[in-house]
Amino acid sequence: MRIAIVGSGFAGSILARILQIQGHRVLLLDRHRHPRFALGESSTPLAALCLERLAERYGLEDLHALAAWGRWRERLPHLRRGLKRGFTFYGHSPGRPYSNGASNERRLLVAASPSDAIADTHWLREDVDHHLVLEAGRAGAEVLEEGELSSVESAQGAWRLAGRHKGRDVRFNVDLIVDASGPGGFLARHLPIERVETEPHTTLIFGHFEGIADFAEVAGGAVLPEGPYPDEQAAVHHILEEGWMYVLPFDHGTVSAGFVIAEGRARAALASHTPDQAWEQLLARYPTLRDQFAPARPARPIGKIPRLQHRLAQAAGDGWALLPHAYCFLSPLFSTGIAWSLLAVERLAFLLERGPQGLQRYGDLLSLEADHIQKLVAGAYATMGDFDRFAAGSLLYFAAASFAEASQRLLPGPADGWAWSGFLGSTDPVVRKMLDRVLAGLQEPGFEEEEIRQIIAPRNLAGLADPARNRLYPVDLELLIAGAGLLGLTAEEIRREIPQLRGGR
Ligand SMILES: Cc1cc2nc3c(=O)[nH]c(=O)nc-3n(C[C@H](O)[C@H](O)[C@H](O)COP(=O)(O)OP(=O)(O)OC[C@H]3O[C@@H](n4cnc5c(N)ncnc54)[C@H](O)[C@@H]3O)c2cc1C
Repeated sequence: MRIAIVGSGFAGSILARILQIQGHRVLLLDRHRHPRFALGESSTPLAALCLERLAERYGLEDLHALAAWGRWRERLPHLRRGLKRGFTFYGHSPGRPYSNGASNERRLLVAASPSDAIADTHWLREDVDHHLVLEAGRAGAEVLEEGELSSVESAQGAWRLAGRHKGRDVRFNVDLIVDASGPGGFLARHLPIERVETEPHTTLIFGHFEGIADFAEVAGGAVLPEGPYPDEQAAVHHILEEGWMYVLPFDHGTVSAGFVIAEGRARAALASHTPDQAWEQLLARYPTLRDQFAPARPARPIGKIPRLQHRLAQAAGDGWALLPHAYCFLSPLFSTGIAWSLLAVERLAFLLERGPQGLQRYGDLLSLEADHIQKLVAGAYATMGDFDRFAAGSLLYFAAASFAEASQRLLPGPADGWAWSGFLGSTDPVVRKMLDRVLAGLQEPGFEEEEIRQIIAPRNLAGLADPARNRLYPVDLELLIAGAGLLGLTAEEIRREIPQLRGGR
C-alpha cells in the first residue's frame, strides 16, 4: 500500500519505519524540521511494554533500548533523557510554605520500577524524535520536512494529496492517510470530522529550565520520610489550588516544568498576562516553588497553550486513521500520552501487516479508551482542592496501570496480542466498574482511603491504600507474588517469570 503519515513526532516516525519494513511505500511529512522542541516527555511502564513488543516483532533494537533508563543510557547515550522512578505528588496551599509530617499528609510516592536500570525515562523529545525520524528515513520511508499539505481529495478508493515542500508544489497519490499531527489536527481540517467538547478545560504555562534548587532543601520545614526512590527522580506533581504543576528532571540538569491551570480558577486572570508574567504570578503564590525556581534560568522562552484539551468524534474511517494525539488529548496528569500513542502504533502496524481492514475496530477502541481516560482525569481534577481525596482517588489509576503491566508481563496474552486489550483497563469490566464506584464515592463525604482499598482490591497488586505503607509505595515483588491469585497464577509461576518483570528477554 501507499501510505502517507502526516506528522513525524515519535509516533508517526515509528509507524512509518515499521510500515516501510512491512513492505508498504511510506511518505512521512512534517511541517517542521528536526530537531525541534516538543512536549510530552514522561514515559511509563505500559509505554515500555509497547516499545519492547515492537522491538521484538520488527527487529528494532533501539526501541528496546529506549524502554528502560539503564539500557538507553548505555546504548543510546547521545539521546538526552531523565531517570523516572515513579510518580511523586506534593499537596500545596497558596501563600504557605510546603509542609508535610511523618505520616505524609501532603505527599504521595508511587514507584514504577524497583531499580534505576529498568526504570522509566523522561524523553528529551527533541533528541528522541530526531533519532526516530532519521531511522524512518534509513528504513526507506520518504521523509519530507518543512512540508505542508493543503488539499486532500478522495479519488476512486484512494487519496490525492497536494501541498508545498520547500517552496515547490508537491502531489502524492496514496491509499491510506494516517494523521500523526497531534493537536495540529491535520485531517480534521480536511475531512468532515466533528469536534467534541471535553472537560476539564485547562491552560498550560510551560518551559525548560536550568539550575533549579533541590526541593528537599527549599522545603526545609517539611518532614520527608524516606521513600522508595529519591523524590525528585520522578514525574513530580505539585497539586495546587488552581490546578497542578509538573517538574520532570533530565539527567543533563535541565527540567521540564509546567503549570496546568483549571478553567474557572486562575484562568481568567492568566488570559491577560504574558507567559512570563503568568509563570511568575503562579510561582509567587507558592513560596516553596518560588524558592525552588528562584535560581533557575529558562532554557527556552516560557510558553503558553490556552486550551490543552481537544477531542474529535471519530478516530478512523475508510482509508484514514488518527493517532491518539491527533484524536484526543485530555491531560498530562497521569502521563498517558506516550503509552497510548505507542499502543495505537502497535495496533495499526498489526492491522497493516494484512491490509486496511479493521480500521473501524481501531477507531472504536480509541473512542472507548478516550472515555475511560476522561473519567480518570475528571475524577482527579475534581479532588485537587483536597489532597487526601486526590491521593486516595489517584490510587485507582495506579491499580489499573500496575495490574495491566503485570498481566502483560506475566500472562500468555490474548490470541490477537496485548495491543488490543484496552489501555489502562478500559476493556476490563472489573476496572471499569471500579472506576465508576470510585467516581461516585468521591462525591460522598467520608469516602476515603479505606473505601478505595476495598474497591480496588481485585486489581490491587501493589499494596495500594494500605495505611501501613504511609503513602510510600515501592515496587514490591513479594507483594506481587502474594497477589498471584488476582492474576490467576500461583506464587511459583510468578517466581519463574520474574525475569520478564524486569524487561528480560
Ligand atoms: C503539556 C503536555 C504535557 C504532556 N506530558 C506528557 C507526559 O508527561 N507523558 C506522556 O506520556 N504524554 C504526555 N503528553 C502527551 C504527548 O505529548 C503526546 O502523547 C505525544 O506528543 C504524541 O506524539 P505524536 O508523535 O503522536 O504527536 P506530536 O508529538 O504532537 O507530533 C506531531 C507532529 O506533527 C507535526 N504537524 C502538526 N501539524 C502538522 C501539519 N498540518 N502538517 C504536517 N505536520 C504537522 C508537528 O510538527 C509534530 O512534529 C503531554 C502533552 C502535553 C500537551
